[in-house]
Amino acid sequence: MRKTVTSDRHARKAQELVASAASSSTESLRRSHEAVEALGRIEAGTYGTCRSCSGRISVVRLRAKPEATRCIQCQLEFEHGRAA
Ligand SMILES: [Zn+2]
Repeated sequence: MRKTVTSDRHARKAQELVASAASSSTESLRRSHEAVEALGRIEAGTYGTCRSCSGRISVVRLRAKPEATRCIQCQLEFEHGRAA
């Protein structure tokens, strides 16, 4: 698969998350797990795609939360218990 400059940047960000999650607190372990999942999605070519509506997750959202799996609208619906 041919990688774009953008996905390479996201891959680096995810790798930084993995590297920064080296301490043993529950929060960093959780973030480490999410970062590993994000790396898997980059390799699968689905990184940046909303798991609920299959739409694109905005670059601004990914920059703030690189491990995001839903677009902001679906995330809000998920947090309010209206979407799977
Ligand atoms: Zn969505």
